[in-house]
Amino acid sequence: MSKEHDRLKRITVKDNVLQVAGRSAGQLVTMAGGTPCYIYDRKFLTKRVETLRSMMPSELKLHYAIKANPMPAVVQHMAALVDGLDVASQKELMVAIGSGIDPEAISFAGPAKRVEELKSAVAANIVINVESCLELERLYELSEELGIKPRVAFRVNPDFELKSSGMKMAGGPKQFGIDAELMPEVLAGLDTGKVDFYGFHIFSGSQNLKPEALIDAHDKTFELAERLCELAPVPVRHVNIGGGLGIPYFPGEQSLDVAVVAEHLKELMLARTGCFKNSEIVMELGRYLVGEAGYYFCQITDKKESRGQTFLMTDGGLHHHLSNSGNFGQVIRKNYPVLIANRVDSEEKEQVEIVGPLCTPLDIVGAKLDLPIAEVGDLVVVFQSGAYGATASPQGFLSHPYVRELLV
Ligand SMILES: *Cc1c(COP(=O)(O)O)cnc(C)c1O
Repeated sequence: MSKEHDRLKRITVKDNVLQVAGRSAGQLVTMAGGTPCYIYDRKFLTKRVETLRSMMPSELKLHYAIKANPMPAVVQHMAALVDGLDVASQKELMVAIGSGIDPEAISFAGPAKRVEELKSAVAANIVINVESCLELERLYELSEELGIKPRVAFRVNPDFELKSSGMKMAGGPKQFGIDAELMPEVLAGLDTGKVDFYGFHIFSGSQNLKPEALIDAHDKTFELAERLCELAPVPVRHVNIGGGLGIPYFPGEQSLDVAVVAEHLKELMLARTGCFKNSEIVMELGRYLVGEAGYYFCQITDKKESRGQTFLMTDGGLHHHLSNSGNFGQVIRKNYPVLIANRVDSEEKEQVEIVGPLCTPLDIVGAKLDLPIAEVGDLVVVFQSGAYGATASPQGFLSHPYVRELLV
């Protein structure tokens, strides 16, 4: 096992073969109908939510942001564990409704929502996170047209950002939400006869492994929320404080110390005053809940040398797992944890480049990895693959088969 992937010590290995959810890698791949495939571990998902809840304040509501992994079986499993689902499109809304969760526990955030999407959301009675003044106007119109009072919350573009985040989603000019400084005017003009006001959504960033950065963002989020609550025309039912909890992907990264973040959140929730005191606090998470429960498997189809470098060629790659290839927001490519699933360890190792079947040098599964000597037919596994995998990848590119997905 490569030394930098220390955290892989938690994996189960039997006769040198990776085991997931009590089955061998080979058995899982066969169950899925072959490679390439994603395997998601149901028990891991359950445990992740339970562990997180045991640390977080008991009154905190947990939502699952389904864009991280919208596979219907996964969403259905998550729906039974969390307090709500967050969707970002009408198609995701259909998956969320299909899970059987109470529509009031579904919220819809996303820039540039189409009128048809808004209509569908109003008809479904879910909470819509309004991201622009025109969107609010459209909801007023839909309120009359459909004879249903839309449930609305405002997504606010905060006047701060979550520092050292994987992706900047707030602070400064952004396409997401309504700028915090415009909110007093928006709230003053809000027509509560036409829409049902629920609260605020303040999302400041994603993929963060630094407790101090999350704590800082929570301080600022609560401070902003308190100000907004004072301005609200009716009591604020909930404030969605975003998520941002990250998972370790790259060599040297450590799991986030959630306990510290949770402790601080507990204090912030208790210290609330005024109208803010009685509103529900919601945390929405995608990656943190599902990312570590997923495995991407592909098979070695060829092995060759090129000018002193050994290449393991596989049937899977960037078209199924864009983020692993390094082309989904990374500046410098680093390896996700990768192993040969049916030869986890051996005395003898060789340095390999693992690449996929696409006609582009960007199609990298793993670069400069020291792995046991692999053969054609062996299985390559990429860990930390439960979030932003299949649906965050250009599956149509080069017209290879779509990836299989199995929840076990
Ligand atoms: C993407 C997104 C999330 C989930 O982010 P993760 O990093 O996967 O936890 C949550 N809320 C909003 C508004 C998002 O756009």
